[in-house]
Amino acid sequence: MKINKLNPQGFCSGVKYSLKMLDDAINNPNTKTPIYLLGSIIHNKKVTNEYIKKGLILLDDKNKSKEDLLNSIDSGTVIFSAHGVGPKVYEIAKHKKLDIVDATCPNVRIIHNKIKEHLNKGYDIIYIGVKNHAESKAVLDISNKIHFITNLDDLAKLKISNDLIYVTNQTTLSILDIDNIYQIIKDKYPNSIIDNKICLATTKRQQAIINMAPADLLIVVGDISSSNTNKLKEIGINIKNIDTILCEDFTSLDIDKIKSLSTIAITSGASTPSYLVDEIIEKINK
Ligand code: SF4
Repeated sequence: MKINKLNPQGFCSGVKYSLKMLDDAINNPNTKTPIYLLGSIIHNKKVTNEYIKKGLILLDDKNKSKEDLLNSIDSGTVIFSAHGVGPKVYEIAKHKKLDIVDATCPNVRIIHNKIKEHLNKGYDIIYIGVKNHAESKAVLDISNKIHFITNLDDLAKLKISNDLIYVTNQTTLSILDIDNIYQIIKDKYPNSIIDNKICLATTKRQQAIINMAPADLLIVVGDISSSNTNKLKEIGINIKNIDTILCEDFTSLDIDKIKSLSTIAITSGASTPSYLVDEIIEKINK
């Protein structure tokens, strides 16, 4: 069996940045304890669990907002995840005199700044993202003048009378879907400013699937909660028309189902540690 390991693999620059911020805080003797993670630092359970084992406390409850979670603590240090937080969360942390380590990916921070800049100039904002994802929730917290759309149906219902419209998006969307949405936005609002912010890490991983040699199966390694990982799976199924499976680690790979195949391609999300991919390849080779 041939295994085609697609490039890139391993953590993207944003994930490396966020984890370094976190490690620096843990290793700094002046960091106030307890140290709280406000949501998973990145969308990978194994990585987050490693930090919990080191003594960090994870504040995470899908039925509670980040504001509510923050309101449940009164001292120590709070780490903001790679996906960013909105101004209200920042204000609560400051009001409670918590120490803040903001590990927001720089690419996400640029989007927040661009949105604020255009709001200050009187623009309405259209933001395209994934519903209930940490990155989009943080952006929507910036202002109620942000029109959130997740698909073309949302776009069809959108009515904006302001001539000034700035349009941007979550960093981990599909590079192919976004072109279509932006074309329709441009037809509907010809004067709008389109600022595609899908990040390079997402683009390269999706492009690698689009350009890959034929294979019997594509394995996408990553966490089920990771947006960029799920988009890789969608590209495999919808664009490449190839059998595609998402594996969180080697234990979730059904070897009996793949042992008769002759070529397997393997990719991974931007928040997937390299060792998880290596373990899967080792299991297949054995
Ligand atoms: Fe940042 Fe992109 Fe990596 Fe997300 S996938 S952490 S936006 S570089």
